[in-house]
Amino acid sequence: MSFAKASNLGFPRMGRQRELKFALEKYWKGELDEATLLTAARDLRAEHWGLQRDSGIEAPPSNDFSLYDHVLDMAVTLGAIPARFKHVGGSVDLKTYFAMARGSQDATAMEMTKWFDTNYHYVVPEFEPGMHYQLLSEKVVADYLEAKALVVETRPVLLGPVSFVLLGKPTDATVTRAAVLEAVLPLYEELLSRLRAAGAAWVQVDEPCLCLDLDSDAQKLYRDAYGRLSGHQSLPKFMLTTYFGALGENLDLALSLQTAGLHLDLVRAPQQLAALLAKDTQGLYVSLGLIDGRNVWRTDLAKAMTLLEAAAKTFGPDRVQVAPSCSLLHSPFDLDTEQKLDANVRSWMSFAKQKLAEIALLARAIGGKAAIKDELDENALLIASRKSSPLIHKEEVARRIAAVDASMSSRENPYPARREQQTKALALPLLPTTTIGSFPQTAEVRKMRAAYRNRKIDQQAYDRFVEEETERCIRFQEKIGIDVLVHGEFERNDMVEYFGEQLEGFVFSENGWVQSYGSRCVKPPIIYGDVSRPKPMTVRWVTYAQSLSSLPVKGMLTGPVTILQWSFVRDDQPRSQTCQQIALAIRDEVTDLEAAGIKIIQIDEPAIREGLPLRRADWPEYLNWSVNAFRLASSGVSDSTQIHTHMCYSEFNDMIDSIVRMDADVISMECSRSRMELLDAFHRVRYPNEIGPGVYDIHSPRVPEDGEMEGLLNKALEVFTPQQLWVNPDCGLKTRGWKEVELALSKMVETASVLRASLKA
Ligand code: GLN
Ligand code: ZN
Repeated sequence: MSFAKASNLGFPRMGRQRELKFALEKYWKGELDEATLLTAARDLRAEHWGLQRDSGIEAPPSNDFSLYDHVLDMAVTLGAIPARFKHVGGSVDLKTYFAMARGSQDATAMEMTKWFDTNYHYVVPEFEPGMHYQLLSEKVVADYLEAKALVVETRPVLLGPVSFVLLGKPTDATVTRAAVLEAVLPLYEELLSRLRAAGAAWVQVDEPCLCLDLDSDAQKLYRDAYGRLSGHQSLPKFMLTTYFGALGENLDLALSLQTAGLHLDLVRAPQQLAALLAKDTQGLYVSLGLIDGRNVWRTDLAKAMTLLEAAAKTFGPDRVQVAPSCSLLHSPFDLDTEQKLDANVRSWMSFAKQKLAEIALLARAIGGKAAIKDELDENALLIASRKSSPLIHKEEVARRIAAVDASMSSRENPYPARREQQTKALALPLLPTTTIGSFPQTAEVRKMRAAYRNRKIDQQAYDRFVEEETERCIRFQEKIGIDVLVHGEFERNDMVEYFGEQLEGFVFSENGWVQSYGSRCVKPPIIYGDVSRPKPMTVRWVTYAQSLSSLPVKGMLTGPVTILQWSFVRDDQPRSQTCQQIALAIRDEVTDLEAAGIKIIQIDEPAIREGLPLRRADWPEYLNWSVNAFRLASSGVSDSTQIHTHMCYSEFNDMIDSIVRMDADVISMECSRSRMELLDAFHRVRYPNEIGPGVYDIHSPRVPEDGEMEGLLNKALEVFTPQQLWVNPDCGLKTRGWKEVELALSKMVETASVLRASLKA
């Protein structure tokens, strides 16, 4: 077969109606047998291959499908089964596979972490000493043959050996990555030759790590691996596939690997095409990532054509193919099922299925754009309509942004002066106790919210219900003796969606799900236009809660960086600008809360760290605008109003200066799992403000043992003065049950009061 013109790098796995999710969850509950689960999965693959072929994709990917995660699949394929799963020879059964992903009675699950800067989480391979690497799964070949039997010639996808080795982690210091690579390379070779024997002419070898900063060890891994694999007659040709950024200084390395083809992400990094064109690339086949696999917008075809024409001119039309920037795994399935979206906004959008059509269309223009003239004209009109649409551009927002000056991003006075004011205004005890915001979202709370959404109960009934829950929560906190109360967040479905729904510039899809991990999917809000806040969003509930108590109730907001990070964002302006608009909206809410008598306001920013760019060189710029956005959101209040922020488990060592620069009066964070190691960084910079290192892990139903919280607090007291220290759990309590919450929080309050007394003595 000749070199495909229209290609794809991966397709969403879940299915149009999230069929895979529901089948998996039933199987896990024991309501579905293994054969039925596997049939459901096979049906989805068949449907997705058919859909891709019918959309004009010449050799759709195979082995991009996974029952849980493709990195886990690769680990299983190569026999990297940690000893605790007690695998004995032969192929890995489903029970073991899911135990690795989700844990079992006898073995804890493997760790999961974010897949580069996406919201997808992969299972981290573990490399143990003495691990016996061997081919344990034929999935790669089986998928290829399964498609072939359906008369679809596919291009199998494999996570490349070096990214596999770099993304996994040795479990002890005696294991080196080089040794793991050495052990798995022969297996890759064997697998690839089986694919070739089965008929595969090309394979897509994913090496996204080529878009990261690579030290010399990692570069050597690349040279060693591909020195061995490239250019063999008995193996398929490799499309070396990179995405989520630019190759940058790794371009020469990538070219030196001598693969037959190279895929570039030209959405994130269009400039790298020029860099490639400047190289001697005799005989190279290129795959151009022109369609955004990470976002929901229709492609600007004229822009894509410029890149396509430049590439076709240099490489020749027969050596160029059109592709999405990365796998479409990160795109929602089908825009056609979205009937409730504003028609204009919808006309600017494209989900996975529509992206396939865009790929096929551009592929027709490889020989010259005359072939798609009408489509180009039509697209130009749509793109122009979006650019000038009053739906997107709000003069009022532009005016406010233009009026932002540096003084708006600083509190009136530095922290020490603010502290004096706040001490007077709040009269809190030493080691004040508080929580992170949410209280248990019981089945009843969720049921009532659903009933309200489906109009089974009216506004009044729903509001009364939320009021009752809030009052119960306030009384509960008073009863157990918490110092700074929260209203409990019973009115909130999700910490981003709740705000997105009340802000202008956001839309919500009905079916725009993307996989987060395993069967878990998220439906991110879509920011399409200038963001503004037509009216207060949280004041009603917080002031209601405050009216019930003489203790301070803390207002609870989601920060601008987190709202940005967990949404699909517009691609017609820099993320930093969108973030600044959200920051102004949150700022309005903050000042409204203050005006309504709320003295403490928390602005959650759990996503600030995960927004860090993949390349170190890009960190300072990101940290600069993201910290500024937080400061803009939080600085509209007087010195006596106390600003809190909250972050979930994070590795702050390398960005602690930015945490200091956020200048929140109080930061609470997750510390209990890492036994307070995080505090070292705060110690090093002599963190000047107040801090609440979470004293117990809310992610587990376990109630901490006697003395545990005290131990953690004592550890914290080695680093901070008692005046700096707050006492709180490490995250919101919404996934917990009331029983455990009551036990754990009572213990926490008790621990604080004992410690407080001993400090005074
Ligand atoms: N205030 C939120 C809550 O308590 C914070 C959630 C988070 O940190 N992710 O649920
Ligand atoms: Zn948290």
